Amino acid sequence: MPDQHLTIALAGNPNSGKTTIFNAITGTRHKVGNWPGVTVEKKEGTVIKFGRKLKIVDLPGTYSLTPFSIEEIVARDFILNDQPDVVIDIIDSSNLERSLYLAIQLRELGSKVVFALNMADQARARGIKIDAEKLGQLLGVPVVFTVGNKGQGIDELLKKAVELALSGKEPEDSRNVKYTGEIESAIEVLQEALGDLFKKRNINVPLRWTAIKLIEDDRVAKERLVSLLGKDSESVLEEARRQRDYITGRYNEDPEILTTDDRFGFISGIIKETVTTTSRHRVDISRNIDLLLTNRFLGLPIFFFFIWAMFQLTFALGQYPMYWLEEAVNGLSNLAAAVLPTGLLKNLLVDGVIAGVGAVIVFLPNILILFFCIALFEDTGYMARAAFLMDKIMHMIGLHGKSFIPMLMGFGCNVPAIMATRTLESRTDRILTILITPFMSCSAKLPVYIVLAGAFFGPKAGSVIFGIYMTGIVLSVVTGRLFRSTLFRGADAPFVMELPPYRAPMLKSLIIHMWDRSKIFLKKMGGIIMIGSIIIWALSNFPQDPRLEQEYRSLETKLALLSEQVPPVGQNTITELEKMRKQLEAERTSYSFIGRIGRAVAPVFKPLGVDWRGGVALLTGFVAKEIVVSTLGVLHSVGDQNSEALQKSLRRSGMSPAGALAMMVFVLLYLPCLATVGAIARETGSAGWMWFSIAYNTTIAWIVAFLVYQAGKFIGLG
Ligand code: GDP
Ligand code: MG
Repeated sequence: MPDQHLTIALAGNPNSGKTTIFNAITGTRHKVGNWPGVTVEKKEGTVIKFGRKLKIVDLPGTYSLTPFSIEEIVARDFILNDQPDVVIDIIDSSNLERSLYLAIQLRELGSKVVFALNMADQARARGIKIDAEKLGQLLGVPVVFTVGNKGQGIDELLKKAVELALSGKEPEDSRNVKYTGEIESAIEVLQEALGDLFKKRNINVPLRWTAIKLIEDDRVAKERLVSLLGKDSESVLEEARRQRDYITGRYNEDPEILTTDDRFGFISGIIKETVTTTSRHRVDISRNIDLLLTNRFLGLPIFFFFIWAMFQLTFALGQYPMYWLEEAVNGLSNLAAAVLPTGLLKNLLVDGVIAGVGAVIVFLPNILILFFCIALFEDTGYMARAAFLMDKIMHMIGLHGKSFIPMLMGFGCNVPAIMATRTLESRTDRILTILITPFMSCSAKLPVYIVLAGAFFGPKAGSVIFGIYMTGIVLSVVTGRLFRSTLFRGADAPFVMELPPYRAPMLKSLIIHMWDRSKIFLKKMGGIIMIGSIIIWALSNFPQDPRLEQEYRSLETKLALLSEQVPPVGQNTITELEKMRKQLEAERTSYSFIGRIGRAVAPVFKPLGVDWRGGVALLTGFVAKEIVVSTLGVLHSVGDQNSEALQKSLRRSGMSPAGALAMMVFVLLYLPCLATVGAIARETGSAGWMWFSIAYNTTIAWIVAFLVYQAGKFIGLG
């Protein structure tokens, strides 16, 4: 076995085919995680090729290496800190100009780079001819043509990469961009100053790159320098400031604008020398499709149709496997109940773990289908069009068109919705979207509305529920506007909305995309839900009143004996006993911690027209919104969930239509469920935003519910 392994990083623009090539190289032997400290996906895999162990790392897709997005910082830091033996730059050949902007920055970083001219098929189809040999000479890099989705050229690419990694040849600076006179002299001055300091400390950071970054006033590079050099960095930073001022004075432009201009100039030079475009007669299929799909009048209806179809698929088709899974969970629960000895452990496993985790697992089919559809939208290039279509409307909330997709998914389930915000480039957009998504009423809240609206509004229930959904949308818009003008003021960075060409999706890639995301859902949500369920279980089972327990147990034994009798006798007695059991169950709950908490928090819910049982139900709803109804069922001592019995009992309990409305509004708006809260913490990378979201939602929920209740009473619904 080879002992020395090589690290190969895959860099490239988003959609250049990085992941496709990564999968082609590593197959299934890879793991997906996050980069430390940020929610950017990290993929890593190992293969043995040419007698070497190769560690392949899929870097985040970026267009540049500026410090403005997490992805760019992550990619850059990986190259600087981990110093991969070679970086493969996946270039979209049909878009060479744009790809080269990243490529020349990778070269500037001083790493050994190999170019993969991917999408070679598309470039050919569009009549674009690239002189690879010339390109390689001009930039001093090996160049290989690849077609990622067909696996063409991948072996050759790896071979070139390994060769370069093992050769002692260092990349030549002379092949890099030459900047405008003053900038070059400034680079030289800084390089010299840095050189001495670096040598003294044996620091191995590319000199020229550091100098360029100082001139561009790159925040992250400066922080890095300070941490490397400590006090010694001051003189260099001072010099950099002087040089920047001088350049700015000369050109009346920021130096970073000048360097960018120079890079584009350099690139157009390369393009001129290496690319020839043959006749443009070829019909541009993408453009024709766009004429229809982004049409001013037809675009939106078509888009809504697709979304509608997606939800149809997700919920209508997902219903069947969901039913099977429910059966499986029930089966497992019954099995566990049958084989385990009666006692606390059994109770914990059946009512705590299996019930809690089972409640979440059943959503897996929905999630798989939803993610499959989203992968389909993304891989074909339609997602970019959807964002484009919604852009104008979303700007009214101060958000980008792309934020629409996660919000829409929120109607299904907030967890994948919040995970979908990863497609947003800007961190502030991401956080803002995450904060307003929970107002989209998720499907788990629907049973609560159905029970309450059904009980108090009869035939008008449908309109009431629609009104609740609308309230959520309105509040998300209001919140969006509010936050945009306070917390995230002026942070909205405009950026070009790309319309990449349409591509026929590949089933394998769709499935990998879908599975990678769902896996995270399963793993993390399983953990959070499990812990949460155990806590709620413990709170509602302890402390126990020995007398109640005794009574309950003897009642159960009696019931079991009676129901086993053949022929069934005493049906009335059984009904009577069932009633008693429910009564006892309610008493037990009332005696437990959760019951005590419920009575303690009752004053909070009283102004909303919700009694202590409603309060407890709302508290347990934190684990998952579905639980609200089942808790109500237990506390009102009626068994089956959204039954007539519960509705009757609710009406008798002194709740008024106004109180029901207030409770629905509260369910709509208050803190998201445990799984969502977990997702918020992970996707924002900060517990702070999680707490903020919890506090904001709950406060708004209380205020709005209070207003609704008071207004309801005023118009005679009290
Ligand atoms: P990433 O964003 O760079 O990771 O890009 P992906 O690997 O997800 O690829 C985006 C899309 O391009 C997928 O639908 C791939 O199947 C497709 N694709 C990848 N390489 C090629 C190629 O060489 N030719 C063509 N026609 N499509 C490709
Ligand atoms: Mg990718």
